[in-house]
Amino acid sequence: MDDFVLRPVMAVLDRIEFDGDAPAEAVSLVQREGRPSHPGVQRFAEHATRTYLTTCSREAGRLRPVRNLWVAQRVQPSVVWELYAWGRRYESTDGALREFRFLRLGSARERSPTEIAIAAFVAAFGAPAAWPEPWSEPFQPCGRAGAQRVRVIEVGLVDGSVKPLLDGTAEEVEAYFAAHGRGRVVEIATGEEVVPGFGCAGCKRVAVCRGPVRTPGLLGVESGQGPLRTISISGLRYYRDCPAQAYMRTVHLPRAYEYSAEAELGQAVHAWLENVHGNQRDGCGFEAMPMAGTDWSAGEWRVTGEFADVGARMLAHHVEVCPFREAPEVDSVRVEPQLTFLDTVARAVVVAKPDLVYREEGRWVWRELKTTQKARWYYSDPLEEFPQLALGVAVLAADALGPGGAGRVELEILRPSGAQIVLIDPTDPERVKTAQRVLREWAGPWRADHLFDPRPGQNCRWCPVSQWCSSYPGPDPDQKDDETGAASRTAGATTTAEG
Ligand code: SF4
Ligand SMILES: [Zn+2]
Repeated sequence: MDDFVLRPVMAVLDRIEFDGDAPAEAVSLVQREGRPSHPGVQRFAEHATRTYLTTCSREAGRLRPVRNLWVAQRVQPSVVWELYAWGRRYESTDGALREFRFLRLGSARERSPTEIAIAAFVAAFGAPAAWPEPWSEPFQPCGRAGAQRVRVIEVGLVDGSVKPLLDGTAEEVEAYFAAHGRGRVVEIATGEEVVPGFGCAGCKRVAVCRGPVRTPGLLGVESGQGPLRTISISGLRYYRDCPAQAYMRTVHLPRAYEYSAEAELGQAVHAWLENVHGNQRDGCGFEAMPMAGTDWSAGEWRVTGEFADVGARMLAHHVEVCPFREAPEVDSVRVEPQLTFLDTVARAVVVAKPDLVYREEGRWVWRELKTTQKARWYYSDPLEEFPQLALGVAVLAADALGPGGAGRVELEILRPSGAQIVLIDPTDPERVKTAQRVLREWAGPWRADHLFDPRPGQNCRWCPVSQWCSSYPGPDPDQKDDETGAASRTAGATTTAEG
């Protein structure tokens, strides 16, 4: 199944703009003859092409679509430098004006100056070139190079929003590229920097790259078939609720707002601790916590009224269990790090974001934080209830965090009434075996699935991607007054993902 959502969107638009197909005909042709894609992706692609055509129809007649990429190329004896941007291209009939359009799955918004600089530069100075076959060959640019004036915009496919990003003459583009593009391009081309994460599975260098930590057998899945896939623990939770929902989240289809007030509070508490632990390592004191009776915010989260009060009480209790209070020798502290592992047996890139990892007297500690207003959780074994703890145990047991031994996995539970720490020993063979079994039970069905069918049920009421699901049963007739479910659906796809 093709995970690249923009591929069918581009294929349909190509057929309409270059082959003269009617939109409905183009959609069904691409669905029939293109790479197989998930029904949710097909639904989104139909919506996206309709939205794009409606939004951009006002430009019809003034600009014509350009099929070939604009490529700026410099051929040197030992290396060929090539620069191009991925999006849609248009020009005036005399070629003096070129417009480059970025596409985003969600709403249009800002892009990094480097991306804008590259897109503008290739439009202002590049020559048209077809995609080389094979890909390892250099482009063969031919035809008129450059334009006098360049526009760069972004089109949001979920709602047809448009964000103008740059509008200038070729000289102005040259200056913009000198300020924001050239240095960064050289840095990327010659640099050693690696940023492992959700992009690794689609990268051709993953087999030889030092970015993701090799951990064969981490997920306990016997052997994975098919292409490398990416997963996180929250992805496995979504999968257990509904495979289609998990898939649509993974490929970043636009989502409706999905946070309840309780979930917002949990995020705010996490963000507050991320901030204080990022700034000091001497142990949190009460003065570092929000004052009771006042609204407060942390990161992008703001809590007010009763929730602000509950959160302040939770955070006050963190002081009792702060890992840095009277701690022995602590080093290598990483707050909410993104950790990336490559399980070569399961053929999976595993992305984890523990709340905190650090070394204490040379041994690694992995801490997760949970907030709750319930008096207790109804679990017999925390590894069963929280698969992220099972992942922590498996990672520490595999010595995958770097030099140092396996110390412990901790679960910090914050309630308005108190704090609790649950400790798990990753050197205990029974705990390790249980963690591996838990991971296998969560990851096995996910790895073996190639269809990601919908599983309609209670989850549909809060499903943030229901707009793209043909199995969405509609609002539960018994829950007409349920504001939470209704809000999730009617909010529309306003929270967007990277496109
Ligand atoms: S609407 Fe229901 S069946 Fe469809 S993806 Fe969402 S949870 Fe799954
Ligand atoms: Zn602390």
